[in-house]
Amino acid sequence: MGTTARVKVWAADSATCDLAVDAAFAALVTVDRDMSTYRSDSQLTRLNRDGAGGWVQVGEPLLEVLTASDRFSQLTNGAFDPTVFPLIHLWGFRDGPLRLPTDEEIERTLRVTTGIRHLVLDLENGRARFESQGVSIDLGGIAKGYALDIARIAALEAGAFAGLVDLGGNLISFGKLADGLVAIQHPMRSGEILGSFRLAGESVATSGGYENFVTIKGKKFGHIIDPRTGHPASGTESVTIVAAQGMAADALSTACFVMGPEACLGLISELENTECVLVWLEGDSLNVRVSEGLTLIAPRSADVD
Ligand code: ADP
Ligand code: MG
Repeated sequence: MGTTARVKVWAADSATCDLAVDAAFAALVTVDRDMSTYRSDSQLTRLNRDGAGGWVQVGEPLLEVLTASDRFSQLTNGAFDPTVFPLIHLWGFRDGPLRLPTDEEIERTLRVTTGIRHLVLDLENGRARFESQGVSIDLGGIAKGYALDIARIAALEAGAFAGLVDLGGNLISFGKLADGLVAIQHPMRSGEILGSFRLAGESVATSGGYENFVTIKGKKFGHIIDPRTGHPASGTESVTIVAAQGMAADALSTACFVMGPEACLGLISELENTECVLVWLEGDSLNVRVSEGLTLIAPRSADVD
């Protein structure tokens, strides 16, 4: 998955801890194996290669993530859209060289290959296909959340009664002992935090332009694409979503980054057990907004560099 993983568990004895940690890591590995677009042999790579030519058999986990992607795409009015993969290539975000595509190139890619409607799923027979040539799917905005979900289940089933899995800053926890504080990072000043909130048995995902961006002709571009324009999304510094499920936190953080603060707050207020922290700039001033069900604890002076 191109990221680091950390697993912490609590269990009755050290042998059970070992089992639970191994089970959690094994679960994470299966997601990389099935859903990585960096592997030539993953199920997703096979779907991307052959899906326009007809049905491609996919396993249950991939089918589940594709189904959820479809659901989150509908829920966010298309802001979450894994069919942005050709656009990611067009901008050179994937293999370089980085470039500003022409309006015609963007318009054509949007018209021909972008939109979840291009993905057709056959749940009964466990297969998927694409409606047109050139469509391809990137699950980079949701697969980490799914990996956290199944790692949590695996650790529980192996006998752990509490645990915390950290996949490159996306977290999931279960059990009282794993409760703790999650910090919101200042988007421009590394090491400085804007506040923190209590995590209790939930998942957290952050999408932020400040960690993963490129500069083309002096302008900063993030790696999240706005499927409405074909351009990298801008206007938000970071979105943190807290949700019961890892997939929801991950997909909604990506979608909310595209939607912008107002639309995100509106959507999150309609969803149960889902909260957000939004950070954005207006001129030189930094705005931080928190959804109703979440309390942000102000940083102590010792937390600030
Ligand atoms: P990170 O991967 O840095 O944790 P995100 O969870 O927000 O951040 O996922 C960003 C990734 O999602 C991108 O690298 C890309 O693979 C994919 N992506 C980009 N734009 C979209 C989009 N509009 N909808 C769904 N996935 C996207
Ligand atoms: Mg995400």
